[in-house]
Amino acid sequence: MTTLFVSDLHLSPDRPRQVELFLKFLAQAQMRADALYILGDLFEMWLGDDDDTSPHKQIVDALGAISRAGVKLHVGHGNRDFLLGQRFARRTGATLLQDYEIIDLYGERTLLTHGDLLCTKDIKYQRFRKFVRSPLVRAAFLRIPLSLRRRIAFKTQSGTKASMRTKTNFVMDVDDDTVSNMMMKYKVKFLIHGHTHRPDIHDFHVDGAAYRRIVLGDWYEQDYVLVCDKNGARPTRVTEYLRKTA
Ligand code: MN
Repeated sequence: MTTLFVSDLHLSPDRPRQVELFLKFLAQAQMRADALYILGDLFEMWLGDDDDTSPHKQIVDALGAISRAGVKLHVGHGNRDFLLGQRFARRTGATLLQDYEIIDLYGERTLLTHGDLLCTKDIKYQRFRKFVRSPLVRAAFLRIPLSLRRRIAFKTQSGTKASMRTKTNFVMDVDDDTVSNMMMKYKVKFLIHGHTHRPDIHDFHVDGAAYRRIVLGDWYEQDYVLVCDKNGARPTRVTEYLRKTA
C-alpha cells in the first residue's frame, strides 16, 4: 500500500481538465492508497468554508468519499487556501496540517510543509503572510459577505501578480539556510514541500550527514504525485499513476 503526496493543484472553475483529473485520481486513490497528503494550494482560491463556488462542492464531496472509504486524508494550507477551516475538515474528514508537521513515513521521520515559509528571502511576502494570517485580520475577513471577500481577493491577487513580476527567481525560491535550519530544528533528514512549482529532489550534506528535500510539482502542466511506500518515494505523473493502477 502507498502514501500519496500532492500540492499546488490550484483547482478552480478555470481549470476543468485538472478538476476532472483530480476526481479520477481520488477515485483511484480510494482503492489503492493508505493515505493522501495535500500539502497546500489545493484550491486556487478559498475564501472561507462557506465558499461553495463550483467546483468546490464537488471536490469537497469527493474528498469526503475517500476518507469515508478509509483513506487517511491530511490537508495543509497553501498561500491560496489558507482559510480552509474546521467546517471544511468536518465535511471532508480531513485532518488539517500545521505549518510544519512531522510524520513517520515508513520508518523515516519526515517534515512536511507547504513551502512558502521557507522562502525567507522574500521579506515582503513574509510580512504580508503574517498580516493576513493574524487571527484578528482573519476573523474580520471571514465576517464580511462572500461577494466582498471575493472582490478583495481578486484585487490582492492582481497586486501579487504585479509584484511577482518584479521579483527574481532567487528571491522567490526557498532559502537554503532556512531549509537546513528547519531540518535541524525538527531533527529530520527528509523534507517534502511544494509551493515553488520547481519539482526536484535535492540531496545535500551537513557535517557529513545526508539530507534529502523533495519538492512536489504543481498541476498546471505536470499533474504531479509523489508515490511513497516502504521501498521509497517516486515522483510520478498523475496520468501515469492512473494508468499503472487501473
Ligand atoms: Mn503556494
